[in-house]
Amino acid sequence: MTPFALLLAVLLLLPSGSSAQPTPDSTHRLLLTNARLVNPETKTVKRGALYVEGERIAAVLEEAPADFDGRTLDLDGKWVLPGLVDAHVHSWGNAGPAFQERQLLQTDGTARAMLYAGVTAFLDLFSPEDYIFELRNTQRRNGLRAADIYAAGPVLTCPDGHGTEYGVPTRTVTSPDDARQTVDSLAARAPDVVKLVYHPYRTERFPSMDRPTMRAIVDAAHRHDLKTVVHVESWKGTHETIAAGVDAITHTPPAPLPDSTLSAMQARGTAWIPTLAVHTELSHLLEHPDRLQNDLLRAVADSSLLAAYRDTSTVPSSIREWMERQSEHRPQRLDAVGSAAAAGLPLLAGTDAGNPGLFQGYSLHRELVRLTQAGLSEWEALAAATTRPGRFLDAPIGLRPGDRAHLLVLNASPLTDIRHTQHIHRVISRGRVVDRSAVQDEITSAVPDVPTP
Ligand SMILES: [Zn+2]
Repeated sequence: MTPFALLLAVLLLLPSGSSAQPTPDSTHRLLLTNARLVNPETKTVKRGALYVEGERIAAVLEEAPADFDGRTLDLDGKWVLPGLVDAHVHSWGNAGPAFQERQLLQTDGTARAMLYAGVTAFLDLFSPEDYIFELRNTQRRNGLRAADIYAAGPVLTCPDGHGTEYGVPTRTVTSPDDARQTVDSLAARAPDVVKLVYHPYRTERFPSMDRPTMRAIVDAAHRHDLKTVVHVESWKGTHETIAAGVDAITHTPPAPLPDSTLSAMQARGTAWIPTLAVHTELSHLLEHPDRLQNDLLRAVADSSLLAAYRDTSTVPSSIREWMERQSEHRPQRLDAVGSAAAAGLPLLAGTDAGNPGLFQGYSLHRELVRLTQAGLSEWEALAAATTRPGRFLDAPIGLRPGDRAHLLVLNASPLTDIRHTQHIHRVISRGRVVDRSAVQDEITSAVPDVPTP
């Protein structure tokens, strides 16, 4: 046994903190050398080598072993970080500025667009459940050259509530008893989280479920060991979900974050997916059409869809009014997220892609920019898009031995400018260097017939 093989034999015996089962691929070996390893969990940059065996990181080494005979990738001058995670998407595809134009991708096309863009996992928070659970299960069984799919399946809402307007099958609940039965039957499909909509104080557009029903969903989900993510629209409603023990809130209500709510989130450790991108990106693109020239955006989004963003004459007045309100509330939203970051709350980066102004894969990079504008450091933004969602989803995401070898290799440091996450040199997925141009070709191929918004 060579010294390096011996070292690995020892390292691989160490408990990895996650499933150590051999993968079908376990003979595959890859060594990344001379890299700067950017670890958002420890906030450290280390020069060294990363050894990958099968689909997992096997060891982080100070120096590359001289006797390694597998594939070596010299990453001198490059920056290596864990693959990114988008914690809030609707993976049907991309919408034009008013939903009139669409780029239909379905979840598998989206998962390829994500992978191309260095987003190696995502959490879908509402898609047709039969389709998305089957695709997710197939991916977990057989693999799929695409980002890892995590899914809530349906959104739990009240009859005629938000979520029912898209014509996508979902689950409505009318009472606490009904909520318990619904969660029990949904749990049989092993959703990665349970998503619900609760906004009892903003009911202009849609009715909301009541507080006892919301609490029953959270309790029932916890009995099944499932985390809950709630769509919120006001801080008062948010406060009630936090008191009920919800695991994560998503979106940012358009008002200053009350101190009492911030303290409640701190005390409970509630995670927050603010989705600043969905609140800001549509007006940003319409005001700055030059941003449509972005290389990464053009690589993942259809050119005819992008053209729709140049012709603002088609944007209806209702959308314009919505955008004006969004712009007015932007400082409050950024302040709220900034104070949550200062208080050490677990923020998760999520975009709400599937909505106008957002593009699967690309927009997570925009969310990172928005998070830093809200006051997060580059380190905090990177953690919000890598190790934090990993912990939330109980997924092995990071640079530790045993973590899934999902890696993003950048040409420039994301610590000096968060926009450098777009300067992608390589994407590594499950230990394999991704052929990004092949993945790009597959983004729009074989779109299955599934109901979409
Ligand atoms: Zn959403």
